[in-house]
Amino acid sequence: MALDRPRALSGIQPTAGSFHLGNYLGAIRQYVALQETHDAFYTVVDLHAITVPQDPAELRANSRLAAAQLLASGLDPDRCTLFIQSHVPEHAQLGWVMNCLTGFGEASRMTQFKDKSAKQGADRATVGLFTYPILQVADILLYQANHVPVGEDQRQHIELTRDLADRFNGRFGETFTVPAPYIVKETGKIYDLQDPTIKMSKSASTPKGIVNLLDEPKVSAKKIKSAVTDLETEIRFDEEKKPGISNLLTIYSTLTGTAIPELERRYEGKGYGALKTELSEILVEWVTPFRERTQEYLADPGTLDKILAKGAEKARAVAAETLALAYDKVGFLPAKP
Ligand code: ATP
Ligand code: MG
Repeated sequence: MALDRPRALSGIQPTAGSFHLGNYLGAIRQYVALQETHDAFYTVVDLHAITVPQDPAELRANSRLAAAQLLASGLDPDRCTLFIQSHVPEHAQLGWVMNCLTGFGEASRMTQFKDKSAKQGADRATVGLFTYPILQVADILLYQANHVPVGEDQRQHIELTRDLADRFNGRFGETFTVPAPYIVKETGKIYDLQDPTIKMSKSASTPKGIVNLLDEPKVSAKKIKSAVTDLETEIRFDEEKKPGISNLLTIYSTLTGTAIPELERRYEGKGYGALKTELSEILVEWVTPFRERTQEYLADPGTLDKILAKGAEKARAVAAETLALAYDKVGFLPAKP
């Protein structure tokens, strides 16, 4: 990996067994593309997962499953660094420093926290959920990342990361690269199939609203066919007036590489049924080999664990160097003089 390449960093939570279509189109597709142009680090963020209760056995299984799905999506351990967040203790260590640099009011303004804590009842939300955007700041800054491929919902957290990098650099001297979000406009927000005004989400979507990549393809095909649309018949991209159809067009366009105006022309005079049926077939064709590849990685946990151990080693080399620099700037006494 050439050192003159810009760095990329992103993370995905092992909070559900399967990734969903929003994760893939909004984030993971970009992870795969950036391997070619960036020195890229991708992490399964298990520390973030425990901000809400997790069953330990399930968490362990989901972490392997997340890694298997990332590899099945096209991440290549020879071209990027793939690791489990808890294998690199520097994340929690720099996270603490960043906690001490963040204002309470500033953290309180994070809308992801507001949404997620409202869902659980504010009393039951953990302090970890409150501070998780700050741990995310550490995740990114440890790798001196230039670009952070994420979905639109993460924009505010990347803003916070930029603010904290600037604040640290201003107070202690140039230390961290100030990262930029890498959000693809067209796919930055894939919507729930049953409520096309909210994002498709592991934690917020109803089963019918979310396309899980590891579900039986038949099940996903049915969900596409029963997606909520509108009372018109015209197939036209109009996010405001026709959010359901626009969402289906976005998914169709991205999975096939066909521009949306071309799809509008192709479906002129045809009903919503035709679009949904053909999209469901395209989806089945795409998820079938994806599921097979995921199963292959899972069937060989020894190899999977080796990939992750090697990834953690590569990640630690970078993270340890950044942490040492940050600790020194803050004024911590060196452990080894
Ligand atoms: P949760 O609801 O538990 O937060 P999630 O569905 O948001 O889960 P994450 O693991 O938090 O999934 O997010 C992984 C990546 O996928 C992030 O970069 C996030 O921005 C992106 N992402 C999540 N949902 C969507 C979506 N509907 N459209 C586009 N990108 C998305
Ligand atoms: Mg999320």
